[in-house]
Amino acid sequence: MECIFCKIINKERPSEIVYRDEKILAFKDTEPKAPVHILIIPQKHIPSVDYLGKEDRELIGELCLVARKLAKEYKISGTGYRLVFNVGKDAGQTIDHLHLHLLGGKKLPWA
Ligand code: 5GP
Ligand code: ZN
Repeated sequence: MECIFCKIINKERPSEIVYRDEKILAFKDTEPKAPVHILIIPQKHIPSVDYLGKEDRELIGELCLVARKLAKEYKISGTGYRLVFNVGKDAGQTIDHLHLHLLGGKKLPWA
């Protein structure tokens, strides 16, 4: 498996993990675009939102709940934060393992 996020899940690649449960993993982005920049991923390999099935409904909801919990932990709930799924080429998706970006800790530019 060449997927680098699967390698992070399997501890074959180092990362700064901030949350793990049986279905989800969250770790710090190595090139942060904001003071808080965390990636929240399913442990199941799904290439992008475009590949979600009905059976993934609960999983995708849980990614948001983990993001909310981490936003509280990192004290950005009050000031606000952004959650982003990049999907495909035009959105600039570079890693083909579904990931939710949690960004915050500064006023975020839009577009
Ligand atoms: P995308 O552009 O696909 O939405 O986001 C991929 C993100 O993964 C980028 O923000 C990039 O900085 C981050 N990233 C790429 N390689 C690694 C890595 O090996 N470890 C970590 N922690 N983040 C990575
Ligand atoms: Zn993967």
